Amino acid sequence: MLKQFTLICQVVSASLLAAMALMLLIACLGNRTVLEPLDPVTMISMRLLLPVAAVQMLAVATFYLFGQNRNLKPLFLTWMGMNLLAFQTVIFLQTKQVNMSAYFGILQLSFHVPGYAVDWVVKGVTALLIVGGVSSWLSTWAENDGRTKMSCPVCGLRIQFPIERLGQTMPCPQCKNAIKLRKPENLKMSCFFCHEHIEFPSHAIGEKMPCPHCKMDITLKEPE
Ligand SMILES: [Zn+2]
Ligand SMILES: [Zn+2]
Repeated sequence: MLKQFTLICQVVSASLLAAMALMLLIACLGNRTVLEPLDPVTMISMRLLLPVAAVQMLAVATFYLFGQNRNLKPLFLTWMGMNLLAFQTVIFLQTKQVNMSAYFGILQLSFHVPGYAVDWVVKGVTALLIVGGVSSWLSTWAENDGRTKMSCPVCGLRIQFPIERLGQTMPCPQCKNAIKLRKPENLKMSCFFCHEHIEFPSHAIGEKMPCPHCKMDITLKEPE
């Protein structure tokens, strides 16, 4: 449920962001003579700043829509949303202006988009970017809550399972070997040969290795 909501927010905001960035770029390239207000933060002409911002927005949107790294995507979206929010907050603090259409006036001019529409799209994209990013963290958190992970001792596949199932045995989804669900923890045993103490991670059960003390080959076993 939360996952679908997150996905919708992110896809919609990334698509709107891409559209806005493309329109800004086209508008900036087409209207070199139009004077734009100064950016209240940097005091740089918006005519210079807008294309830079547009390229940045386009990069974030493209990365979201076509990129591979799933962990970085929400991070970039939230970062973009925060940037837009900061920009609008500063404008509001300095000019008491809530309507953003003046700062994106070039869109009105080039595409005949009404001012209120520009204003709403800017605010909508900002809100969706932030909501989508935050809810993605919430859903990751909810997913990990009450669950734990281990790797299959035979094939190494990462398996996620609810904590209640700890201690149960199930076939590995990949190699079909029966594996015992356990916490990722360190286990202790003593060497069969020198009886020295050996500690090893639970996923290493069944592996052969030389004893760190006497160097004899031993098989790591579940402690009794
Ligand atoms: Zn396996
Ligand atoms: Zn030993």
